[in-house]
Amino acid sequence: MAVFFIGGESNVKDYYDVVVIGGGPGGMSAALYAGRAGLSCLIVEGSSTGGQMNETDIIENYPGFEEIEGPVLGEKMRRHAEKFGAQFHTATVVDVDFSGQVKKVILDDGKVISSEVVIISTGASHKKLNVPGEEEFSGRGVSTVQPVMATSSKGRKSLSSAVGIPL
Ligand SMILES: Cc1cc2nc3c(=O)[nH]c(=O)nc-3n(C[C@H](O)[C@H](O)[C@H](O)COP(=O)(O)OP(=O)(O)OC[C@H]3O[C@@H](n4cnc5c(N)ncnc54)[C@H](O)[C@@H]3O)c2cc1C
Repeated sequence: MAVFFIGGESNVKDYYDVVVIGGGPGGMSAALYAGRAGLSCLIVEGSSTGGQMNETDIIENYPGFEEIEGPVLGEKMRRHAEKFGAQFHTATVVDVDFSGQVKKVILDDGKVISSEVVIISTGASHKKLNVPGEEEFSGRGVSTVQPVMATSSKGRKSLSSAVGIPL
Protein backbone atom coordinates (compact mmCIF):
# COMPACT_ATOMS: atom_id res chain seq x y z
CA MET A 1 0.00 0.00 0.00
CA ALA A 2 1.34 3.44 -0.93
CA VAL A 3 1.55 6.02 1.86
CA PHE A 4 1.56 9.72 0.98
CA PHE A 5 2.63 12.52 3.32
CA ILE A 6 0.99 15.90 2.73
CA GLY A 7 3.25 18.91 3.34
CA GLY A 8 6.28 16.71 3.87
CA GLU A 9 6.02 17.19 7.62
CA SER A 10 4.91 13.77 8.81
CA ASN A 11 8.44 12.50 8.57
CA VAL A 12 9.61 14.55 11.55
CA LYS A 13 11.85 12.33 13.62
CA ASP A 14 12.03 11.98 17.40
CA TYR A 15 15.71 12.96 17.65
CA TYR A 16 17.97 15.52 15.91
CA ASP A 17 21.55 16.58 16.58
CA VAL A 18 20.31 20.17 16.72
CA VAL A 19 16.82 21.63 17.18
CA VAL A 20 16.34 25.30 16.31
CA ILE A 21 13.29 27.09 17.69
CA GLY A 22 12.31 29.92 15.34
CA GLY A 23 12.24 30.17 11.55
CA GLY A 24 13.44 33.76 11.14
CA PRO A 25 16.80 34.74 9.61
CA GLY A 26 18.57 33.98 12.91
CA GLY A 27 17.19 30.45 13.14
CA MET A 28 17.78 29.72 9.47
CA SER A 29 21.40 30.91 9.72
CA ALA A 30 21.94 28.58 12.67
CA ALA A 31 20.36 25.68 10.76
CA LEU A 32 22.50 26.35 7.72
CA TYR A 33 25.66 26.13 9.81
CA ALA A 34 24.46 22.99 11.59
CA GLY A 35 23.72 21.36 8.26
CA ARG A 36 27.09 22.32 6.80
CA ALA A 37 28.72 20.74 9.85
CA GLY A 38 27.01 17.47 8.97
CA LEU A 39 24.54 17.61 11.85
CA SER A 40 20.90 16.65 11.50
CA CYS A 41 18.81 19.72 12.23
CA LEU A 42 15.13 20.46 12.71
CA ILE A 43 13.78 24.02 12.60
CA VAL A 44 10.51 24.46 14.45
CA GLU A 45 9.48 27.58 12.63
CA GLY A 46 6.33 28.77 14.34
CA SER A 47 3.50 29.72 12.01
CA SER A 48 5.52 30.32 8.83
CA THR A 49 8.97 30.55 7.26
CA GLY A 50 10.78 33.86 7.52
CA GLY A 51 9.78 35.34 10.86
CA GLN A 52 9.49 39.13 10.79
CA MET A 53 10.67 39.17 7.17
CA ASN A 54 7.13 38.12 6.28
CA GLU A 55 5.87 41.46 7.56
CA THR A 56 8.32 43.37 5.39
CA ASP A 57 7.53 44.65 1.92
CA ILE A 58 10.98 45.51 0.69
CA ILE A 59 14.35 44.85 2.31
CA GLU A 60 17.11 47.03 0.94
CA ASN A 61 19.94 46.58 3.43
CA TYR A 62 20.75 42.86 3.02
CA PRO A 63 24.17 42.59 1.36
CA GLY A 64 23.96 41.08 -2.10
CA PHE A 65 20.36 42.15 -2.61
CA GLU A 66 19.86 45.83 -3.41
CA GLU A 67 16.12 45.33 -3.07
CA ILE A 68 14.19 42.17 -2.26
CA GLU A 69 10.75 41.38 -0.88
CA GLY A 70 10.88 40.05 2.69
CA PRO A 71 8.96 36.80 2.03
CA VAL A 72 11.09 36.13 -1.07
CA LEU A 73 14.30 36.48 0.96
CA GLY A 74 12.74 34.19 3.57
CA GLU A 75 12.09 31.49 0.96
CA LYS A 76 15.63 31.83 -0.38
CA MET A 77 17.05 31.40 3.12
CA ARG A 78 14.84 28.36 3.65
CA ARG A 79 16.01 26.70 0.43
CA HIS A 80 19.61 27.49 1.35
CA ALA A 81 19.23 25.80 4.76
CA GLU A 82 17.39 22.84 3.18
CA LYS A 83 20.23 22.45 0.69
CA PHE A 84 22.43 21.58 3.65
CA GLY A 85 19.87 19.15 5.03
CA ALA A 86 17.89 21.26 7.50
CA GLN A 87 14.31 20.09 7.96
CA PHE A 88 11.47 22.54 8.64
CA HIS A 89 8.40 21.88 10.71
CA THR A 90 5.50 24.30 11.11
CA ALA A 91 4.58 24.15 14.79
CA THR A 92 4.88 26.17 17.97
CA VAL A 93 7.01 25.12 20.93
CA VAL A 94 4.77 25.13 23.98
CA ASP A 95 7.20 23.69 26.53
CA VAL A 96 10.76 22.50 26.97
CA ASP A 97 12.51 20.17 29.37
CA PHE A 98 16.18 21.07 29.66
CA SER A 99 16.78 19.11 32.88
CA GLY A 100 18.76 16.26 31.32
CA GLN A 101 21.66 15.88 28.90
CA VAL A 102 19.09 15.12 26.23
CA LYS A 103 16.70 18.08 26.04
CA LYS A 104 13.05 17.76 25.11
CA VAL A 105 11.11 20.22 22.99
CA ILE A 106 7.34 19.91 23.19
CA LEU A 107 5.24 21.10 20.25
CA ASP A 108 1.62 22.22 20.01
CA ASP A 109 0.89 19.37 17.60
CA GLY A 110 1.74 16.86 20.31
CA LYS A 111 5.19 15.92 19.00
CA VAL A 112 8.11 15.72 21.42
CA ILE A 113 11.54 16.19 19.84
CA SER A 114 14.76 15.27 21.64
CA SER A 115 18.20 16.77 21.10
CA GLU A 116 21.38 17.53 22.99
CA VAL A 117 21.52 20.97 21.38
CA VAL A 118 18.60 23.41 21.30
CA ILE A 119 19.09 26.86 19.78
CA ILE A 120 16.45 29.41 20.76
CA SER A 121 15.99 32.02 18.06
CA THR A 122 12.47 33.23 18.69
CA GLY A 123 13.13 36.86 17.76
CA ALA A 124 10.93 39.63 19.01
CA SER A 125 7.67 41.37 18.43
CA HIS A 126 7.19 45.11 18.41
CA LYS A 127 5.35 46.92 21.14
CA LYS A 128 2.38 48.83 19.82
CA LEU A 129 1.24 52.30 20.88
CA ASN A 130 -2.43 51.32 20.62
CA VAL A 131 -3.38 54.65 19.08
CA PRO A 132 -6.03 55.28 16.40
CA GLY A 133 -4.80 54.55 12.85
CA GLU A 134 -1.86 52.39 13.97
CA GLU A 135 -3.21 49.16 12.47
CA GLU A 136 -4.98 50.84 9.58
CA PHE A 137 -1.87 52.64 8.31
CA SER A 138 0.68 49.96 9.18
CA GLY A 139 3.13 49.75 6.27
CA ARG A 140 1.58 52.88 4.76
CA GLY A 141 3.24 55.58 6.81
CA VAL A 142 3.25 53.78 10.16
CA SER A 143 6.33 51.61 10.71
CA THR A 144 7.97 49.86 13.64
CA VAL A 145 11.40 50.08 12.02
CA GLN A 146 13.30 53.33 12.38
CA PRO A 147 15.46 53.13 9.20
CA VAL A 148 12.31 52.30 7.19
CA MET A 149 10.63 55.36 8.68
CA ALA A 150 13.62 57.48 7.78
CA THR A 151 13.44 56.39 4.13
CA SER A 152 9.68 56.42 3.63
CA SER A 153 9.09 59.72 5.41
CA LYS A 154 11.93 61.60 3.72
CA GLY A 155 10.81 65.15 3.01
CA ARG A 156 7.62 64.69 5.04
CA LYS A 157 6.76 65.52 8.61
CA SER A 158 7.06 62.41 10.79
CA LEU A 159 6.78 61.38 14.41
CA SER A 160 9.02 58.86 16.16
CA SER A 161 8.28 57.11 19.42
CA ALA A 162 10.44 54.81 21.53
CA VAL A 163 8.41 52.26 23.49
CA GLY A 164 9.71 49.84 26.07
CA ILE A 165 13.37 50.82 26.01
CA PRO A 166 14.78 50.48 29.55
CA LEU A 167 16.32 53.64 30.97
C1 LIG B 1 7.70 45.56 9.27
C2 LIG B 1 9.16 45.18 9.48
C3 LIG B 1 10.09 45.62 8.57
C4 LIG B 1 11.43 45.27 8.74
N1 LIG B 1 12.33 45.70 7.80
C5 LIG B 1 13.63 45.40 7.93
C6 LIG B 1 14.59 45.79 6.95
O1 LIG B 1 14.25 46.42 5.96
N2 LIG B 1 15.88 45.46 7.16
C7 LIG B 1 16.29 44.77 8.28
O2 LIG B 1 17.49 44.51 8.40
N3 LIG B 1 15.41 44.36 9.20
C8 LIG B 1 14.11 44.66 9.06
N4 LIG B 1 13.21 44.25 10.01
C9 LIG B 1 13.70 43.54 11.19
C10 LIG B 1 14.03 42.08 10.85
O3 LIG B 1 12.92 41.48 10.18
C11 LIG B 1 14.33 41.34 12.19
O4 LIG B 1 15.43 41.99 12.81
C12 LIG B 1 14.68 39.88 11.95
O5 LIG B 1 13.62 39.22 11.30
C13 LIG B 1 14.98 39.19 13.29
O6 LIG B 1 15.29 37.85 12.99
P1 LIG B 1 15.19 36.70 14.07
O7 LIG B 1 15.46 35.43 13.36
O8 LIG B 1 16.03 37.06 15.25
O9 LIG B 1 13.69 36.74 14.63
P2 LIG B 1 12.26 36.75 13.92
O10 LIG B 1 12.34 37.20 12.51
O11 LIG B 1 11.38 37.50 14.87
O12 LIG B 1 11.87 35.22 13.90
C14 LIG B 1 11.51 34.56 15.08
C15 LIG B 1 10.79 33.28 14.70
O13 LIG B 1 10.56 32.52 15.87
C16 LIG B 1 9.26 31.97 15.78
N5 LIG B 1 8.80 31.66 17.13
C17 LIG B 1 8.58 32.48 18.19
N6 LIG B 1 8.16 31.79 19.25
C18 LIG B 1 8.11 30.49 18.86
C19 LIG B 1 7.74 29.27 19.49
N7 LIG B 1 7.33 29.26 20.78
N8 LIG B 1 7.80 28.12 18.78
C20 LIG B 1 8.22 28.12 17.49
N9 LIG B 1 8.60 29.23 16.84
C21 LIG B 1 8.52 30.40 17.51
C22 LIG B 1 8.43 33.05 15.11
O14 LIG B 1 7.24 32.50 14.54
C23 LIG B 1 9.42 33.47 14.04
O15 LIG B 1 9.35 32.64 12.91
C24 LIG B 1 11.85 44.51 9.87
C25 LIG B 1 10.88 44.05 10.77
C26 LIG B 1 9.56 44.36 10.58
C27 LIG B 1 8.53 43.84 11.55
